[in-house]
Amino acid sequence: MSIAENISAIRARIAAAAESCGRDVGEIMLVGASKMNDAAACREAIAAGIDALGENRVQEMTAKLAEDAYRGAPLYFIGHLQRNKVRQVVGKVDLIQSVGSLPLLQEIEKEAAKQGIVQDILLEVNIGREEAKSGFLEEELFAAAAEAKNCPHVRLKGLMTVPPVEVEAHDCIPYFEKVRGLYVDISEKLYDNQFEYLSMGMSGDFEDAIRAGATMVRVGSSIFGQRYYPDKHK
Ligand SMILES: *Cc1c(COP(=O)(O)O)cnc(C)c1O
Repeated sequence: MSIAENISAIRARIAAAAESCGRDVGEIMLVGASKMNDAAACREAIAAGIDALGENRVQEMTAKLAEDAYRGAPLYFIGHLQRNKVRQVVGKVDLIQSVGSLPLLQEIEKEAAKQGIVQDILLEVNIGREEAKSGFLEEELFAAAAEAKNCPHVRLKGLMTVPPVEVEAHDCIPYFEKVRGLYVDISEKLYDNQFEYLSMGMSGDFEDAIRAGATMVRVGSSIFGQRYYPDKHK
């Protein structure tokens, strides 16, 4: 199957999931998670009409930017972002989805101010309270969103989450529903219901995420094929 064929298959599944819960398919964006895939694969996805591409690693993204891999589609940063790499991401991407700490938020504000721009962001929620994962705990989220509102050079547009890897199908539904609740609540109380992006759901669970209210799904392997990690065992 080609990337274009995979994208149309995913589109059909997104449409079916939306229909199954009475949602308009037009309110759901498909982001291609293109990590470990080269510039040619990115261009193929863009030619096939992907709504945006998401990258995880700063170094890889910078190299692919230099190859002009993303022309024609918005570029999002979706991976863990270290503070010392903020300068390489702010102003280079349309949306930073993975803002998971106050120091990172402040660093982004500082860099965006320096560049004289307003950077769109999402706050990442660590909904499974996992030690090894970054992101705000649910009880920290409201204060973080209030803090973002005080930053003139960032614009908070919603929330993003990666639930714990669960063994059984559909096990992520309660996590998705919880994040949806936080999204609705914060948007209403702090942002005049202006939030746009609830980014959740990946290859294995994007239909569940859509039924729980996702407006943006991030799909990698089901579009680009299985990733090969040469250093996975390390
Ligand atoms: C890799 C990645 C995805 C896509 O994962 P697949 O299971 O390959 O669809 C989505 N979100 C993030 C943050 C990722 O790193």
